[in-house]
Amino acid sequence: MHNREVYGALNPSRPDVTRRSYLYPLTPMGVGTAAVESLTGYISRLAAAHDVETGILVKHELRPRIPCARGAWAGRVRENLPEYHFYVSAHTLNGVGARARLWVSLLEQLTCVTRLDLLTALPWARAISCVHLLRPSRRWCPACYGDELSSADSAHDRLLWTFQIVTACPVHRLPLESNCPFCGRGQYVLAYSSRPGYCSRCHRWLGGAPAGACFHSDLTEQIEVAEMVEALLAAGPTLSAHFGLDLFRENVRGFVRSAGGCYGFHNVISNLQLRRWVRRLVIPRMNSLVTFSRSQNVSLIRLLTERIDRGDKPDQKCVRKAHYRIASAVIEVALKTALQAAIPLSLPEIANNLGYRSVASLKFRYPALCREIAGKRRAEVRAPSKTPVPREQIEKTLLEELSKPGITNLRAVMASIGLRSPSRLGKDFRSLRLAIAAKNAAIKRRRLETSKTALITAIEAARVTPCNETPIPTVAEVAQRMGFATAEPLTSRFPELTTELQVCRRRARWEKYGRRVNERVRQGLIEALREFPPPSCANIVRRLAGHFSQIRETFPDLWRTLRQRYGEYVRDVHHANREAFAAQVHRAVTELQRRGAYPTLRLVLATIPQPKFRSMELIAETLRLVRHELSIKPCEAYHSKK
Ligand SMILES: [Zn+2]
Ligand SMILES: [Zn+2]
Repeated sequence: MHNREVYGALNPSRPDVTRRSYLYPLTPMGVGTAAVESLTGYISRLAAAHDVETGILVKHELRPRIPCARGAWAGRVRENLPEYHFYVSAHTLNGVGARARLWVSLLEQLTCVTRLDLLTALPWARAISCVHLLRPSRRWCPACYGDELSSADSAHDRLLWTFQIVTACPVHRLPLESNCPFCGRGQYVLAYSSRPGYCSRCHRWLGGAPAGACFHSDLTEQIEVAEMVEALLAAGPTLSAHFGLDLFRENVRGFVRSAGGCYGFHNVISNLQLRRWVRRLVIPRMNSLVTFSRSQNVSLIRLLTERIDRGDKPDQKCVRKAHYRIASAVIEVALKTALQAAIPLSLPEIANNLGYRSVASLKFRYPALCREIAGKRRAEVRAPSKTPVPREQIEKTLLEELSKPGITNLRAVMASIGLRSPSRLGKDFRSLRLAIAAKNAAIKRRRLETSKTALITAIEAARVTPCNETPIPTVAEVAQRMGFATAEPLTSRFPELTTELQVCRRRARWEKYGRRVNERVRQGLIEALREFPPPSCANIVRRLAGHFSQIRETFPDLWRTLRQRYGEYVRDVHHANREAFAAQVHRAVTELQRRGAYPTLRLVLATIPQPKFRSMELIAETLRLVRHELSIKPCEAYHSKK
């Protein structure tokens, strides 16, 4: 125990010693610029600094400290690591996943160098998906590596080259190389003997003038893409730790708004994709991001990190449930027509008339018009309600409605005379209201009855003349003729009748088209019967583009004959082959006998140039028969006889 009184005055401060690192604190190259080094490149430079091969450093110092991420060894460090798989998937060390994070923190710990995550795509982990992000094979720009004598020390593998979408060097305007000009082989991003600037297979310098002549196809587009990615890499150090997709989503919403909906982008990106981006369901992929930003003429870095003003009202919220089933022009006309009426229809009514269930689709596309309609309606409907509507007028209107033949919409009628809802009538006009309701019910009942009769008539007509020229109506058509918007009222009330009508229609269709199809199939089968060699049944079905069991059931006799014919043919062919083979064996055995050798299986097979059969059992059986035929004794007896 320390005695405070004795030791209190003694306050030994730690000597100022810089922290010692386990590995050399090698400074990463190009951080904060477009030419930033990749983490795999850093590892191979680190190995070179220690004068060992990359594989040695990885195997003895790095991998033994990395716990397994998955499988039975998850969370533990594994001995006897398989080597090959590591290098195949080493490109993920430059990526956005947990593996990259593990390696970055290990290397930071061992070298005492901070922010090694800038050598990977980790700063963008929350904004760019890992799918199709990096490529497993190594690519490089020979001009960037430069001359061996002058730049071997400063050579480093760029992070830019590891992205799948980057195929050209924007500095030298050259396509990236993927095969060594000396040994012609491709390489993994990290290999056992990786060294920046050198081929990991033949160890020759990859830099210098490009291998091919300078006739390159137009690289403008590829260079533009590479420059976009470069800008992202250069911006890595400026991003906050929690950088995400908020600004991007806001920008996409802005673009969607100014394009009048997701459909404006259908030839750039699918609607579904766009909605998923906005609804935070997915993190976008690099290629989609690049396509989108190019289509909108905005750089990728701006799209992700800046608020892009499209000059529209910022307070307008994106309606996520807007549908575009009906053309905007139709909606606009409907809204304008409604606005011209003395008392415009309510927005839900307009939406319903157009076939929408909610007003969202109207409000999203024509907010100003919708506001105007709602305002006018409010003014018109409310203003007269301040002065009570005279009883006589109400009574007169109701009586008029009662005498009209059609269904009365009481709510609309009340609105037309300035009452906001039928409940305002109270108990005063109870009998009149009940009479209108009874009239409506009677009309509906009558309509259903007529519909039933119509269905029955249609079914009977179909039954009496099965091949009639007049087409049988669909259930929806009958319903429409009866004044229903959909077939649902009929299908729910007369399920048997509607099903029967559908069956009739199907039968009539079969009568009309099926016969023609059947005739074609019959011709095909008869033709197949004349062919030689006879085709197999599967072949015939394929040729006729028909269905196996359907053809078999429709033409059972033809089918049976065809099958028998094919079976016989196959048996004949096999038999002929067997005989030919037996003759070959026979010849071989005689030949061997003539030479004085015992015809063993091996020798016989060696004598036959191209044996027709390869099954050992079959060959042995044939040989046994031939030996028997030529009365050759078993091996020992043969030799002893000699
Ligand atoms: Zn270059
Ligand atoms: Zn090589």
